[in-house]
Amino acid sequence: MDVSRLGVHDSVRAVCPPAVLAERLRVADADVSVVDDDVTGVDAVVTFGHVDAFVGLDWVHCIRAGYDDFPLDAYRDAGTVVTNSTGIHGTSVGETALGLMLSLARRLHEYRDAQTERSWTTPAWDTPFTLRDERLTVVGLGTLGGGIATRADAIGMRVDGVRRTPTRTPHTRTVYTPDRLHEAVADARFVAVAVPLTDATRGLIDADVLAAMRDDAYLVNVARGAVVDEDALIAALDADALAGAALDVFETEPLPESSPLWDLDDVLVTPHAAPLDRAYPEAVARIVRTTLRRDDGADVVNRVA
Ligand code: NAD
Repeated sequence: MDVSRLGVHDSVRAVCPPAVLAERLRVADADVSVVDDDVTGVDAVVTFGHVDAFVGLDWVHCIRAGYDDFPLDAYRDAGTVVTNSTGIHGTSVGETALGLMLSLARRLHEYRDAQTERSWTTPAWDTPFTLRDERLTVVGLGTLGGGIATRADAIGMRVDGVRRTPTRTPHTRTVYTPDRLHEAVADARFVAVAVPLTDATRGLIDADVLAAMRDDAYLVNVARGAVVDEDALIAALDADALAGAALDVFETEPLPESSPLWDLDDVLVTPHAAPLDRAYPEAVARIVRTTLRRDDGADVVNRVA
């Protein structure tokens, strides 16, 4: 990709200081600077979010895997190439998801809560359990789903998955197609959601899917808030039709102070932080640098428009 002036948009501060990412990119031939919404001086931007002024640039690289808020048709019409950062979050989100499941099983969140009260409290004898031999269903087996499945398999969980192609992946036992989602979640102690937000997945985890889950099951959502019907989830938790949830993403972010999710027992709320990692800027920079160096007509890395 022939880019002589590359902007690092302010919005990347959601994962690292813009100057840090700009520094990592300086090894490429382009002139790299930090920019705000005024992008008149650059040919391409590396950004966290969409800004209307980006439409018409040569290239926009999104530092996230999810690009559901980018108006791809407008970019296509303007001839702007759009790329994303799929492929870099398997370890960070995989570890976070495993940590959340471990906390729920081993009750670690309760001990930390008690510590803030200086209270020496143990749980009812029959509430802690081990993850070994528990069933996990991972919905979506791409980078995130694969990262979760690998780690869950490594500690002895029985991992099933939901995937559009009905073939097993290395760390899953049974793979269901999306039309068998109810069957896929029915026996799981944990259901982890790892699909992109698309027309097909908006509201995928609805009241019917939640009702198909065991009443001692936990939902883990590290994908996008709108993949889960949040009202239906709150109703299921209120009715003890589910044991709990670990949620990194929400229909509205930041999660409003008025949301009941903050106060529900056995609901862990994390602030869309599952992929945060001091190695994040270097991982993004590797993708961007690869595309910048491709002057041989080969396609850009992770093109989505
Ligand atoms: P990916 O492209 O590597 O994998 C997505 C997988 O989902 C693909 O294998 C795809 O075939 C599959 N899929 C799509 N629709 C499906 C459906 N209806 N049923 C079953 N599978 C389906 O992307 P990724 O890096 O794994 O990220 C997945 C999503 O997770 C992103 O789009 C993003 O929204 C979200 N995400 C969130 C965070 C976070 O901060 N919590 C971090 C990274 C990604």
